[in-house]
Amino acid sequence: MSSKDDVLIVEDSPAIGMLLKNYLEKLGYTQIHTCTNGSTAIETFKELVALEKHPIVLLDYMLPDMDARSILTQMLEVQPNARVVLETATEKDDVGIKELIRLGVYQYLEKPIRFENLKSIFETIEKEQSFFEEEPEQVKILKQEKQDQTQIHDQINFIINSSKQISLNLIEQLIGFSNESITSYLKELEDKGKIIRIDDKKEIACNQCDSVKITQTFYCPSCKSSNFKLGKLIEHYECGNITEESTYTNDVCPSCNKTIKALGVDYRVMQNHYICNNCKGFSSEISTDYLCLKCENKFKFDECRWKTSPNYKLINM
Ligand SMILES: [Zn+2]
Ligand SMILES: [Zn+2]
Ligand SMILES: [Zn+2]
Repeated sequence: MSSKDDVLIVEDSPAIGMLLKNYLEKLGYTQIHTCTNGSTAIETFKELVALEKHPIVLLDYMLPDMDARSILTQMLEVQPNARVVLETATEKDDVGIKELIRLGVYQYLEKPIRFENLKSIFETIEKEQSFFEEEPEQVKILKQEKQDQTQIHDQINFIINSSKQISLNLIEQLIGFSNESITSYLKELEDKGKIIRIDDKKEIACNQCDSVKITQTFYCPSCKSSNFKLGKLIEHYECGNITEESTYTNDVCPSCNKTIKALGVDYRVMQNHYICNNCKGFSSEISTDYLCLKCENKFKFDECRWKTSPNYKLINM
């Protein structure tokens, strides 16, 4: 059997980092890299990819220097099939988390971290890996020659089982072709009450290859860097300084060195602003592009194609 993939742990708490490392060693992983912030994580990730590795990334949702969205999309740009597992203590229904899942977080790990959960996620990753990547010939044969129905059915079952909701477009994308046998098998699952068809899904598709495996990349509107974080700014009315809350050490304005006194009177707090780590600029909005994970084409929202297809929801497989 092939050896285990490298794992990259991105976690600012050394205690949790150590715990994860211990768990993973128990699961047989030996190449484990630990980073405590976003920028070194991206550097390490690039180095591993340059060595033709396909690391599994455990990403902490809250890091001091960089937004999780920024880290995720920078990794996807380097390796479109990057496997990023998000660790978070926040609810799965949180808007921020939902967005990350939509953008391409591979799996989700709840904090406090339990060994059983970590184990099952890594088992799923390994299973999926052998299914889609270690047997490309199998997929190719499926495409070209007479297809073996049971294999297609197994693949469809696997795809549906790993997502709660999925469109026909995406199923076809993952299998690698579209034909009668897919739709008739979905009909069969529908008749058996295993899945139900819900409203059609309109999805963004690549304007070059038509794929619906798309993610978004985010960047600073001024300097185009993807290295940013979400944070709080303070505006000191008297001198006009606007910088991060943390720059006001002991409530002293970093620009005029006077003490800020009363919120709303001589200063205000600006919540949820994107702060660029590169040019130090800030704004309440961040710019975005779309990235095709199949052909790596980049395009803007107004250049995208839209594809509509039936959407299915898993009931009980
Ligand atoms: Zn000031
Ligand atoms: Zn910038
Ligand atoms: Zn494409």
